[in-house]
Amino acid sequence: MSMLHGRILIVGAGFAGSTVARALAEASHTVQVIDRRAHVGGNAFDEADAHGVLVHRYGPHIFHTNSEKVWEFLSRFTEWRPYEHRVQCVVAGQRYPFPINRNTLNQLYGLNLDEAGAAAFFERVREARDPVRTSEDVVLNSVGRDLYEKFFLHYTRKQWGMEPSQLKAGVAARIPTRTNTDDRYFTDRFQAMPLGGYTRMFQNMLDHPNLTVRTGTDFADLDRSAFSHIVYTGPIDAFYGQCYGALPYRSLRFEHEHVPNVAQYQPVGTVNYPNDHAYTRITEFRHLTGQMHSGTSIVREYPTGEGDPYYPIPRDENEVLLKQYEALAAREENVTFVGRLAQYRYYNMDQVVAAALVAAQRICERLRQ
Ligand code: FAD
Ligand code: UDP
Repeated sequence: MSMLHGRILIVGAGFAGSTVARALAEASHTVQVIDRRAHVGGNAFDEADAHGVLVHRYGPHIFHTNSEKVWEFLSRFTEWRPYEHRVQCVVAGQRYPFPINRNTLNQLYGLNLDEAGAAAFFERVREARDPVRTSEDVVLNSVGRDLYEKFFLHYTRKQWGMEPSQLKAGVAARIPTRTNTDDRYFTDRFQAMPLGGYTRMFQNMLDHPNLTVRTGTDFADLDRSAFSHIVYTGPIDAFYGQCYGALPYRSLRFEHEHVPNVAQYQPVGTVNYPNDHAYTRITEFRHLTGQMHSGTSIVREYPTGEGDPYYPIPRDENEVLLKQYEALAAREENVTFVGRLAQYRYYNMDQVVAAALVAAQRICERLRQ
């Protein structure tokens, strides 16, 4: 057992841990951050690959938020490159704009709908569901069966290893349906990539005199009694030794590839393959980063049940198990759980930062008492 000196221990150097760490350090607390991985940044970690192209080791991360507070906080640690993500879906060998918009309909069905025509089209084909409980309900309720089967059913089966009807509505509800021709993946007010990359932004965030970082260090190997408070951002079930059973997570295997001497591999940042291949999507990083290079680097995502926990799985039965762990967590006086894994919520990066800023505030109040 090694002893680390510092009043507050933060387990995990991703968005949750780094945000809380910075906020607490600025509030004059002494903070020790650890991560079992060899680097900071959590799943948003980026690095130059062997060919010098900036890639995201754990899959493509596109920053977007409507929160001015989150935007302002992160803007203290990075400059930005404006970037609006676009995605196309390959269906029967053709590429279509996705999320489904009016152009998707016109191209797919050989129509010439205007906005009102697209709205009428959706009204005609949709299968009204009430209540809307599952991801199947969400999609059928808005775009009907044909579009569901072409764009959603098989992608969801591949991504989650289960039926859309087994997943809560919130999963598919991440994807809007549009009657206009807006082909952006996100419509948030702030959409940009950290100009020097995510890792650089994390290094700036963690660069504070009250804060020390130790990577390659597992929580299990520390003496907790050396700390007055612990902020835990790993999987909540692991914190409790999975005493009620393991919370299920979905994982991915990332296949990175460098393609030399091509200006562009694909026309947009991400191309989805709902119905073909074992992978769900291919992302070409240079679209995201704007980097100039003689070649290009891509990543394919292969969903799997084994491996690092990347996605909580939003289903009712998992919520029941989560509630049991949350009841234990609620009794902790000196431990705060925050982040995508610790809260078991399908959070985007900005939602994690927002939750972490609130958590830091609460910790400051508690430690003042
Ligand atoms: P993490 O980043 O998982 O950090 C937790 C850290 O805790 C990890 O580094 C882990 O090593 C460490 N840890 C865990 N247990 C221990 C332990 N016992 N001891 C020491 N350290 C430990 N969000 C977006 O907004 N836009 C996107 O485009 C986007 N794309 C994504 C694509 C993929 C493939 C994935 C998986 C996620 C994506 N996200 C995206 C979500 C985003 O990754 C998360 O919201 C965010 O990174 C979560 O931050 P976190 O700090 O909660 O968790
Ligand atoms: N989805 C789909 N077809 C697609 C893209 C997404 O069916 O082409 C569904 C799928 O269930 C997916 C969910 O919508 O898990 C959310 O997609 P998103 O792109 O937000 O997933 P993430 O980027 O978080 O992996």
